[in-house]
Amino acid sequence: MKINDFSQSVFITGANRGMGLGYVVHYLKKTFSVIATAKNPDRAGELLRLKKEYPDQLSVLELDVSCEASILKLVDQLQSMGVTFLLAINNAGISLEEEFGKWTKATFEAHFRVNTIGPALISQALLPFLEKGAKLIQVSSGLGSLEKKSNLNHGLDAYAASKCALHSIAVNLAEKLRTKNIMVFVINPGWVKTKMGGDEAPTSIDEAIGNITGTIERLTFEQTGSFLSEKGEPIPW
Ligand code: NDP
Repeated sequence: MKINDFSQSVFITGANRGMGLGYVVHYLKKTFSVIATAKNPDRAGELLRLKKEYPDQLSVLELDVSCEASILKLVDQLQSMGVTFLLAINNAGISLEEEFGKWTKATFEAHFRVNTIGPALISQALLPFLEKGAKLIQVSSGLGSLEKKSNLNHGLDAYAASKCALHSIAVNLAEKLRTKNIMVFVINPGWVKTKMGGDEAPTSIDEAIGNITGTIERLTFEQTGSFLSEKGEPIPW
């Protein structure tokens, strides 16, 4: 991939911190052009610092994944940049604990807006910009699996449901995009030390990003529509 050329870029949502920022650093170091999106780019200090270090490789754009108007504005910007993507990572997510007995509509809706509807509409919006052979990644969680019933003693029910619904979107998308030669995968990053994962998580961002990007590189068309761990092992839906 050529520097100063956004014709074959990597696209990332929620790129201002956590694993999103980790992908940005990884792909910049690999000399890819990167379109990093964030809800509040003006407050994304580390992204703005990276922009100074990689002025020709990195573009930072505003995107609130839960806002349709923000997605439409992004599309306009991508069109004027003449950008195309080989890889797009729907990474942004929220996770709020709310115990059974205290469930609220607001918490369920917030999770579905960010974790399900956002990635669905962004995937749709990105379609004209995806190259043949592009990989579209939906970042999910083991908690979104219906079959993995261990560790259900948590208050992350709305989070789990929103990721489970994302799986349905991803499987349908994989079939819809098969004839366009675009691959769709669901990846569980594992338990990672971020604001969401907390300090007790066993895996550093660097280690997680190393594993996930290695897996992304190895994914083939035969695997489109699958749910995989950070190391590429299949996970039950
Ligand atoms: P963080 O909480 O560290 O980061 C979340 C990112 O999502 C932030 O950049 C945040 O931006 C962004 N975001 C949230 N809402 C929006 C929105 N409406 N529009 C745009 N961006 C938004 O999380 P992680 O890095 O840990 O998580 C990344 C992904 O990995 C998520 O999808 C998560 O569900 C998944 N995951 C994480 C695990 C872990 O152990 N960490 C385990 C399993 C899955 P802002 O700073 O502006 O809020």
